[in-house]
Amino acid sequence: MTDLLLDELRAAVGAAHVLVPPEDLSAYERDWRKRWNGRARAVVRPASTAEVAAVVRACARHATSVVPQGGNTGLVGGGVPGAGGDQVVLSTRRLAAVREIDAANLTMTVEAGCVLQQVQEAAAAQGLLFPLSLAAEGSCTIGGNLATNAGGTQVLRFGNARDLCLGLEVVTPQGEIWDGLSGLRKDNTGYDLRGLFVGSEGTLGIITAATLKVFPQPAAVTTALAACDSLEACAGLLALARARLDAGLTGFEVMNAFSLELVSRHFPTLPRPLPGAVWTVLLEQSDPEGEATARKRFEALLEAALEAGHVRDAVVAESLAQSKTLWHLRESIPLAQAEEGLNIKHDIALPVSSIPEFCRRTDAALDAHIPGVRLVNFGHLGDGNLHYNVQAPAGGDARAFLRDHEPKVNEIVYDAVQAFGGSISAEHGVGQLKREELQHRKPAAALQMMRSIKLALDPQGLMNPGRVV
Ligand code: FAD
Ligand code: ZN
Repeated sequence: MTDLLLDELRAAVGAAHVLVPPEDLSAYERDWRKRWNGRARAVVRPASTAEVAAVVRACARHATSVVPQGGNTGLVGGGVPGAGGDQVVLSTRRLAAVREIDAANLTMTVEAGCVLQQVQEAAAAQGLLFPLSLAAEGSCTIGGNLATNAGGTQVLRFGNARDLCLGLEVVTPQGEIWDGLSGLRKDNTGYDLRGLFVGSEGTLGIITAATLKVFPQPAAVTTALAACDSLEACAGLLALARARLDAGLTGFEVMNAFSLELVSRHFPTLPRPLPGAVWTVLLEQSDPEGEATARKRFEALLEAALEAGHVRDAVVAESLAQSKTLWHLRESIPLAQAEEGLNIKHDIALPVSSIPEFCRRTDAALDAHIPGVRLVNFGHLGDGNLHYNVQAPAGGDARAFLRDHEPKVNEIVYDAVQAFGGSISAEHGVGQLKREELQHRKPAAALQMMRSIKLALDPQGLMNPGRVV
């Protein structure tokens, strides 16, 4: 790359927004998990769609690859540059405007660099709900959420990021702007381009804005915590909760005992309700009527679940503050795990009906291979998504554990996932982490179509190379 490119980038966005070494760029070069340490040729921070297009055109002219980055909270190494020092990181963080809220159409149009929490708050200020919710919501961006088709805790009721997106504005690898910002719920005019860009992890173009679905705010949101003796019991509780609460059931998270033990160890000030539970379930209910009816409905559900033997013990949150504390416990698990040390993460989807048997078999296979191995198993049971993470035996060296065991552990887990008809990436995406694995696990015909699409849209291969395909 020549200085000419830097000059063109500075002309496109202003010199203050082109960051180059020796300035410290580590916040953009290193991922959240600290697994990948890349080196950027430059970090460019455009503030408008036109500036994004100018940056992409400049990079294309100089055959320089572009790594789009939002909040850099991704867990698969998709948003950080490679080690070669020749890639331009395009940070979307300055594309941060809420362009429009159309309450009558139940839509909002926001720019890609809006932090998810900011999107939720902008909707709430109009009495509306944008339901995408995940533990990184204070720092991840809506562009990153769409690029990874993020899931989170409300998928069983509202779907994932793709289901919440009606329209997109995209800068193509050639630096053209596609204005597909539509708030239509029906539009059958050919191929689903929006669906294609959602989940493309920056490999097909740069999402600069999106039109999102919003919903009326429920009158009350309440939570409860239940102790179950097995995953079968959790699944029994889920079936009962679905039958009794129907669309009112907006969250159903499970946590194994070890994942909560880690939370207690690293965040000792957090309370630990139901301390002896083998499995702890966090249920959330949204109610159009109000808190009193919601709580009554929860109590009746949990009594029935106790009688049916699904639940051993339960508590219903008595206030919004208590509800928040229960969610805080759940959302602290990834942070507690990061404190505990590197681990082998699996973000898997399975039919809910297969999850108990999958875990029984896979837990046993892992323990036979690595006696004493510790499983941090938690996630969104309501939509069949587990974070099935494998941590070194107590006292073990995490780095050595990864080096010695990651390939075999992945083989054991992913073989089982495949045998049960599951997916090796439920919500985090493919990135660098699972690119190789995908080649072995996805049908050849599907991989061929993916490569053809990539080649058609990005023939120079400049958009986030080395990721996904
Ligand atoms: P980044 O990390 O910056 O980028 C992610 C990918 O998207 C990269 O490939 C990048 O190139 C691409 N990208 C980013 N912005 C754009 C854009 N505008 N156009 C094109 N490509 C782009 N994920 C879940 O799905 N569910 C969870 O429950 C969840 N919980 C999490 C909890 C924690 C504590 C953390 C750290 C992460 C969690 N994640 C979860 C993963 C992560 O937060 C999500 O994947 C999030 O959507 C990434 O957003 P981001 O803005 O940080 O994207
Ligand atoms: Zn998750």
